[in-house]
Amino acid sequence: MEGKDLEVMIGLEIHVQLASQSKIFCECQANYRESEPNSNVCPICTGQPGSKPMGLNKTALENLLKIASALNAKIKTSEKIYVQRKHYFYPDLPSGYQRTSKPIATEGRIGKVRIREVHIEEDPGRYELKKGLVDYNRSGVPLAEIVTEPDLKTPEEARAFLEELEAILGYLNAVREEAGGTRIDANISLKGGNRVEVKNINSFKGVYTALKYETVRQHSLLEKGGKITQETRHYDEAGGITIGMRKKETAEDYRYIPDPDIPPLEIKQEQVEKVKKQIPELPREKTARVSKEYEIKEEDAWVLASEKELVDLFENLANEFDAQPLANWMRGPLKKQLNYRNMQFKDSKLTTEHVEELYGMITKKEATDKTADTLLIKMLENPQQKPRALANKLGLVRIDNEKAIERIVEETLAENLKAIEDYKKGEQKALHYLAGKIMAKTRGTAAPEIVQKLLKEKMA
Ligand code: ZN
Ligand code: MN
Repeated sequence: MEGKDLEVMIGLEIHVQLASQSKIFCECQANYRESEPNSNVCPICTGQPGSKPMGLNKTALENLLKIASALNAKIKTSEKIYVQRKHYFYPDLPSGYQRTSKPIATEGRIGKVRIREVHIEEDPGRYELKKGLVDYNRSGVPLAEIVTEPDLKTPEEARAFLEELEAILGYLNAVREEAGGTRIDANISLKGGNRVEVKNINSFKGVYTALKYETVRQHSLLEKGGKITQETRHYDEAGGITIGMRKKETAEDYRYIPDPDIPPLEIKQEQVEKVKKQIPELPREKTARVSKEYEIKEEDAWVLASEKELVDLFENLANEFDAQPLANWMRGPLKKQLNYRNMQFKDSKLTTEHVEELYGMITKKEATDKTADTLLIKMLENPQQKPRALANKLGLVRIDNEKAIERIVEETLAENLKAIEDYKKGEQKALHYLAGKIMAKTRGTAAPEIVQKLLKEKMA
């Protein structure tokens, strides 16, 4: 089933928490996670009668402008931007309305995907439906909402778009880092059906799963001659499915009005210029430059450029080592260990010096691939440890001494006569089996090419 044939249209509304010390209209901490439920609150962010919001948080706004600028959007400098009240009734919203600005920037673009608009708004609290508990610690945390045009054609395209957006946001340091701050609403329609909105997806990965599910669901409904009604659906993360919630609100249901307590925003051209100067080289440009400059595959450069700290590490080390093998190692063994721990390079606390030493051990054949992996794992457990000292301490120094390896090869052969017979019958598997035994005996330290050579000689 190809998205092209189905004529799928997908648009995304992405909410990210803007980096800032305090909430958007009060002085409560934006970092709400460490606090007991409902302790990180004040009359403003809990919507108490008579409380008046403070001026809109300047740091949050500046970070939103950075994002808008990096998305190549036009920031509005010639008109007042009103903060509106968007009314709805739900326990997570104590005032009965969410403060949300009119578009601050419009007509942006990431690659082929157009960005309709970017605006700022306040995060609601958190309501646990099943327990009936509400926590307002998050209420009032500043959010950027990024809205795309329905330019995405498949769940895969949506995923690739979000990966790039995530990389861009990482480069800008403009959003809060704790996982779970991001929420996405996905609009999806197939030709001949109405638009369905899937609300409150909590991760970029969830978007892909939800969209896959919706494409299949809507397609099979249409095929049976059914109708796709315009509705809002809820994404059930545990099941990877979407569930119908209610008929979609129209803009009128929200009864938008400008908030009389908040002066409209006015953004000066100078401020826009200042922000533009702070935008670093972004992943797309970085990929193109790095792949050209160091002559590595573009695909590898893209993986490295997905994180600024990772591609910086590459550029630092590429002065000393051959670039393509270095890129292979970073993209392969290094990334594998990081991904396994759900980590970015910067979270690993590994230093450039230690990685340089470790990779140097591989290129100088002081470490085998196997022992380098072991050392890397130990270094991730305790980033203070230097790889060479660690190798000595753990007895993981590579054995290059042919005599020493020969002893172990002979011993292993004597213990595995059946494997020798199999090898002589032409079974290559037997050779791998024996090599594996020897690597295990030496905890991965025996030089693999010497092991291979000796095994073949002895069994010839
Ligand atoms: Zn507050
Ligand atoms: Mn919103």
